[in-house]
Amino acid sequence: MFTIDNFIRPHLKSLKPYSSARDEFEGEASVFLDANENNLGSLAGGVDYNRYPDPYQKTIKEKLAKLKGVKPEQIFIGNGSDEAIDLLVRLVCEPGQDEVLLLPPTYGMYEVSANIHNVGIQRVPLDERFQPVFQKIAEKQTERTKILFLCSPNNPTGNVLEHATVENLIQTFNGLVVVDEAYIDFTDQPSWSTRLDEFPNLVVLQTLSKAWGMAGLRLGMAFASPEIIGYLNKIKPPYNINVVTQGLVSDALDKTAQLQDMLQVIMDERTRLLQAFEALPLMEKVYPSDANFVLVQVPNANELYSFLLERGVVVRNRSNQPGCANCLRITVGTPAENDNLLEALHSIAATQKV
Ligand SMILES: *Cc1c(COP(=O)(O)O)cnc(C)c1O
Repeated sequence: MFTIDNFIRPHLKSLKPYSSARDEFEGEASVFLDANENNLGSLAGGVDYNRYPDPYQKTIKEKLAKLKGVKPEQIFIGNGSDEAIDLLVRLVCEPGQDEVLLLPPTYGMYEVSANIHNVGIQRVPLDERFQPVFQKIAEKQTERTKILFLCSPNNPTGNVLEHATVENLIQTFNGLVVVDEAYIDFTDQPSWSTRLDEFPNLVVLQTLSKAWGMAGLRLGMAFASPEIIGYLNKIKPPYNINVVTQGLVSDALDKTAQLQDMLQVIMDERTRLLQAFEALPLMEKVYPSDANFVLVQVPNANELYSFLLERGVVVRNRSNQPGCANCLRITVGTPAENDNLLEALHSIAATQKV
């Protein structure tokens, strides 16, 4: 039976967290002289910018809990989900000793976070369908492997990881299993956050950076047991989500109808791009997508990348990722931007330049 207490780094288990002025005050008051703020106001103008933000983002968590079908105490909010990735590594991995397990090709920050903390990295590549290979992953785990990072839908490949394999991994992996669902809103697959009560070692990551269109505000979420969330709260920077972000996000979370409208446009455009790519002789492989981007394989990714750049279109060259030789990752843009892209691609087909 998994208990998070057995995985927390010992010095963090006994850590006494920073106690902020707003943590220590409980009750009703109208005169706040407890936090050395400037009570005259803020040069940035606006509302309450002179005040420290709510360290636990209560308003946002209540709204997210309703939207996602989880309890507020199962939610951690980070300065982007990248902050949650960083804190998870810090929480359970002893530098110079422990390891994380990655399934490339995948999102780059798991590796960077591990490297920042001098935590080892083990890798088991996804198979040729970009699916996890259960047996090889099981064989790779040692008692030093503390986190398995899964990304579904996966970046940069765009596919959802097979449900049965993910469930098997969560059930058998003796450590934290992080399922990064940054692109969950672009698929009709259910979120693993609906299964939190069954799996005490499961952490699900989501973000407002992709579907919700708020990458610039920096807000990511981790969903997990209240015990894991409690530890993340203990080690996070006290005021990690600023007042502006909290206010704007709180308003945006009410706009679910507009979210659905935007998602519809993006998914329709994804279909249009997929069909147009399929019809281009230039494309050697067009991978199906459950995300807001499409991975394609071409004869020469470097050349095509430069050709598009000359026409003012920048895509992501993923050629040096394992299993992604000559692959470009193309984000679904606005209808007009996608027209630009397709025009550029058709002009190649016409001139046979690349
Ligand atoms: C974009 C992305 C993130 C980053 O999310 P932020 O909330 O902006 O930090 C996390 N995971 C994956 C797989 C992503 O593609």
